[in-house]
Amino acid sequence: MSKRKLTESTAEPPAKKVHSFFTGNLTPGSFDDSIPSLVHFFHLDPLKAEPPSEPIQIVLYDLDGTLITTRSGKTFPKGSDDWKWWDDSVPNRLKQDHKDGKHVIVLSNQAFKGPKVRREWRGKLPLIAAKLSNIPLRVLAALEKDVYRKPRTGMIGLLRELYQDNGWTVDWSNAVYVGDAAGRKGDHSNTDFTMALNAGIKFVTPEEHFLGRPPAYPNPPISFRPRSIEDLDSLPLVMPSSTPIARDKKEIVIFVGPPAAGKTSFYRRYFSDYEHVNQDTLKTKEKCILVAREHLLGGRRVVVDNTNRDVATRKLWLNLAREVDAPIRIFHFACPVDLARHNNRYRAFFAPKDEPKREILPESAFASYKSGFEPPTLKEGFDELRTVNFVWDGTDEQRILWDQYLA
Ligand SMILES: [Mg+2]
Repeated sequence: MSKRKLTESTAEPPAKKVHSFFTGNLTPGSFDDSIPSLVHFFHLDPLKAEPPSEPIQIVLYDLDGTLITTRSGKTFPKGSDDWKWWDDSVPNRLKQDHKDGKHVIVLSNQAFKGPKVRREWRGKLPLIAAKLSNIPLRVLAALEKDVYRKPRTGMIGLLRELYQDNGWTVDWSNAVYVGDAAGRKGDHSNTDFTMALNAGIKFVTPEEHFLGRPPAYPNPPISFRPRSIEDLDSLPLVMPSSTPIARDKKEIVIFVGPPAAGKTSFYRRYFSDYEHVNQDTLKTKEKCILVAREHLLGGRRVVVDNTNRDVATRKLWLNLAREVDAPIRIFHFACPVDLARHNNRYRAFFAPKDEPKREILPESAFASYKSGFEPPTLKEGFDELRTVNFVWDGTDEQRILWDQYLA
């Protein structure tokens, strides 16, 4: 792994008035802009010192609703100055962390609606650092829907690299993450809690951490991850499994299943010498039928790799089968829609490098599949109906990523 260099940026300097907070050799901190989808601010970077021989302790904080809140009382700040500590005890607690030898790190999700808001937000970080005077502070903020955004653990991964590359050992087993997005009534989400679970880090709310209150949030969190599905890993891939999957004579095989259910992988694996008809490639249903008809008239076998969620759509294929006098079979991908949604995120964020890059599909693709879905039956006129269960396929490292909370 290449050594991560901190490239300090002056491209977007904080507002000028910041400097009046500082005297002597204090600086308002620096930005590392080497990752476009991430704000990386650091003040009095402790990693510039000689690493100690013992592992160091770190304490991770969310920002909004955890360390600070708006002075205006609004959900979104009105400017760089519109902030105050979440509780009066916060700065002293951070000072105590520093005294105890802990590194203080902030992990935040941000979604800026434009360059002005982004500039104002960046301008706030030196102001916060200034109030903490001599406490080293590092802030990471995820800006896009990518691996860095909580509950994904990209920011933790970056920290692990950063410390390792600078020769520091972190006692991750005693790290704690303090965040307010815990899935409580009124919380906007539970992504602080689920990120901590994904990263294997102890989680507490600001109420527990700063005010000593008992934990009060749904645990386990109400969010999807693959292990929430009980019979995952226990079902056979194809049911019934007694007959061959592919055949050697002209036929139509139509797939039924949500996007990201593994249909195309299944095609590549079991039907690779069938012609592939797919609406994402061919754009319209009419074009799909035209292309399929041509193949069938030439005596070739065809897989229709579309979602084919309702009786009316499947009827088009039954009609074509009658027209060209070909048998027609159904492979129904029984992947739960929640799992398909999860796979959609997984393959967009973590697709193995040797697989084609997949764009994340909109939520509406899953909602419309779910609302329009009519379970396929033999009564519609098919010659065979097989069920394909979702069976995980990949390396152990990929499995760890796939098993996380991704939303
Ligand atoms: Mg928060």
